[in-house]
Amino acid sequence: MASVTFDRTTCLFPGSTTPAVDALDLKIEDGEFLVLVGPSGCGKSTSLRMLAGLEQVHSGRILIGDTDVTAQDPKQRDIAMVFQNYALYPHMSVAENMGFALKLAKTPKAEIRERVEEVAKMLDLEQFLDRKPKALSGGQRQRVAMGRAIVRQPQVFLMDEPLSNLDAKLRVQTRTQIAQLQRRLATTTVYVTHDQVEAMTMGDRVAVLEKGILQQCASPRVLYSKPVNVFVAGFMGSPAMNLFTLPVFDRGAILGETYVPIPRDVVGQVHETEVVVGIRPEHIQITDYGLAMDVDVVEELGSDAYVYGRAYVAGRSQQIVARGDWRSPPQKGERIYLNFDPEQVHVFSTQDGRRLG
Ligand code: ATP
Repeated sequence: MASVTFDRTTCLFPGSTTPAVDALDLKIEDGEFLVLVGPSGCGKSTSLRMLAGLEQVHSGRILIGDTDVTAQDPKQRDIAMVFQNYALYPHMSVAENMGFALKLAKTPKAEIRERVEEVAKMLDLEQFLDRKPKALSGGQRQRVAMGRAIVRQPQVFLMDEPLSNLDAKLRVQTRTQIAQLQRRLATTTVYVTHDQVEAMTMGDRVAVLEKGILQQCASPRVLYSKPVNVFVAGFMGSPAMNLFTLPVFDRGAILGETYVPIPRDVVGQVHETEVVVGIRPEHIQITDYGLAMDVDVVEELGSDAYVYGRAYVAGRSQQIVARGDWRSPPQKGERIYLNFDPEQVHVFSTQDGRRLG
């Protein structure tokens, strides 16, 4: 096992003027489960592929443990990758698929059998060892792809959207199984997804990328409660954080009937006449006074109800989403009133989107 270090690692594709990954600085600790997340095209897969040796590094370095692997072939790197499409060999049985890398490495047959059986047990695949991939369900194929990686006992696992071909229910089950298994094996893992719920539930830490640039890398809790900029604030959380551009009055901003102070330590830095104020749906109270909102849609999810509507904020009609009481949510067309918990409000710069305070 080993740590992984991206040291100002950059990927610039031929003919492109902007890097797909721009000076990525990130250390993944030995045994850690690190999730790379971000919107389509932000550079997640390219980062993973550089680490796998499948994409050329334009500048900077990649280390596994203390070894600089930047110039090494994929085969030399002692990593195992699980792809979105599983990439199983159709003509081989499950056992042969799982043991294939060991066979190539000329591992003795008895040892291959033993390791395959052990991992098959771990993944509940024992009864399928003689089947071909086409005779398996999507979830079973996914487990075989995982098994093939685990059997190799690599220093690092790389996973690129490994759950994206599963239906919603199976995705939820499988993400828990993968996270538990990773903790049991304690193998350093880099996991790519565009799904922020997957990122938050699985990762020890989550690295958020946007346009090839690392925005923030932190525990799920910190990302959620202290996003470093407007991008991370809007990307992490579902439904997304409400964001309003508000004029600055007397070292604060007014949201409905709530005075939002700008943190004292940054007052001196705020030269702006406007700030971006963010509040998550769960930190808005629906009461009988405050900011008037006309309800457009109520999404009832059983345990929660999300209430979408429009309100006038700083002279503009704005979409707002608030979490309502699932037992008696408001109705479409109703006028409701919103209050905001000033303790839970986030304040960002309108100039560069960075968090203030
Ligand atoms: P997705 O979630 O859609 O898979 P991603 O975050 O994994 O996206 P990448 O596949 O890493 O994004 O792509 C990052 C950027 O690099 C994109 O702008 C993409 O168009 C570009 N890119 C990827 N591969 C190549 C290539 N072989 N040649 C040129 N540009 C590429």
